[in-house]
Amino acid sequence: MAELQLANPDPVFIQEVKRLGGDTLKNCYQCATCSAVCKLSPETNPFPRREMLLAGWGQTETLIKEPNLWLCYQCNDCTTYCPRGARPGDVLAAVRVFAYKHFSFPSFMGKAVASPSALPLLLLVPTILLLGCMFLFAPQTADGSFQFLESNVVDFNLFLPHSSIDALFVFGGVMIFLFAGIGMGRFWKGLRQPGQDYTLGFVSALILTIKEIISHSKFRECEASHSRAIGHQLLIYGFVGAFVTTLMVFALHFIPEYLHLWFRIESLHPFIEMPVEFPNPVKILGGLSGMAIIIGCGLLIARYWGTEDESSSYSDNIFLYMMFFTSLTGMLSWFIRVADMAMAAYVMYFLHLVCVFYILWYMPYSKFAHMVFRTLALVHARMIGRIQ
Ligand code: SF4
Ligand code: SF4
Repeated sequence: MAELQLANPDPVFIQEVKRLGGDTLKNCYQCATCSAVCKLSPETNPFPRREMLLAGWGQTETLIKEPNLWLCYQCNDCTTYCPRGARPGDVLAAVRVFAYKHFSFPSFMGKAVASPSALPLLLLVPTILLLGCMFLFAPQTADGSFQFLESNVVDFNLFLPHSSIDALFVFGGVMIFLFAGIGMGRFWKGLRQPGQDYTLGFVSALILTIKEIISHSKFRECEASHSRAIGHQLLIYGFVGAFVTTLMVFALHFIPEYLHLWFRIESLHPFIEMPVEFPNPVKILGGLSGMAIIIGCGLLIARYWGTEDESSSYSDNIFLYMMFFTSLTGMLSWFIRVADMAMAAYVMYFLHLVCVFYILWYMPYSKFAHMVFRTLALVHARMIGRIQ
């Protein structure tokens, strides 16, 4: 006789998934239409019917380690055909948010970034630190007023010295990559099952996954939200471009400058001067990346407000808005600086830095973590032969 097993549902998980946008999960009556229509679902062990069952039963431990969660791109083809309005695409998206909150370190940060009530406090932290940098480090005139108030040219270095911003950037970056690494390690450990056979090495699986992310080939297979793939792709290209631009500014300006200052290497000077201007390739890359983010986020936000896409949760939206405002304030502070409107340029630059530090410091707990976790899950799925 088969052994009787108790399901032991986790009520906290069910409540949390409902709060995160999966409030329809109990509507599912297991007809499996969703698994049949999903173009991304493999023939063996198809999803998302089983995941809907596990979610409805509150099987947290099984579900958050389930690679299938991350094979879903929330295109909502299944939601369109679900006869019960259970919105399986949105339920899986909510479970993914729950999963990266669960694996994140420290876990209270995961909860804070997913909570609208914590937003003012999260914005206040970079605001206070940046104001502190200005009051402590902005150069002053002999009579004690700030030089940037007296200067005839708009100079961000007089308002918030680059060295203080770099210190925040480097210190925050090191901490964040450390915390993100811990979260990724926990997630990877959760994906690996005892006795699992691997048919592909990590590096080969990673290369195939990166190719897929660049081409968005899987995302484009979906029907109901095909246009969402364009906004998503622009956002990813813009994000990568902005990241490369930041690294290049560091490598070509700040690192040689600091080596020159600290180690007195007379021959070493910055390869590019600040502020970087057109037609420098770094400026062109930064400008194009900013435009890609603004257009990509704009398309995704417009879809949401046009009610074409009802599926976005707070975690999706806040990330989109912060990315949008980071790029918009960056572009505007450049235009206003060039137009020589000093005070407006400083205010815009300050807002831009608050957005930049929000994105950077809360990266391991935001939708960005989702991108990293999905990449790892896709690599793992390839390694075990779940997808090709
Ligand atoms: S989510 Fe909808 S389509 Fe999928 S099994 Fe449940 S009721 Fe059927
Ligand atoms: S949302 Fe799209 S990818 Fe996800 S399960 Fe449904 S049909 Fe498949």
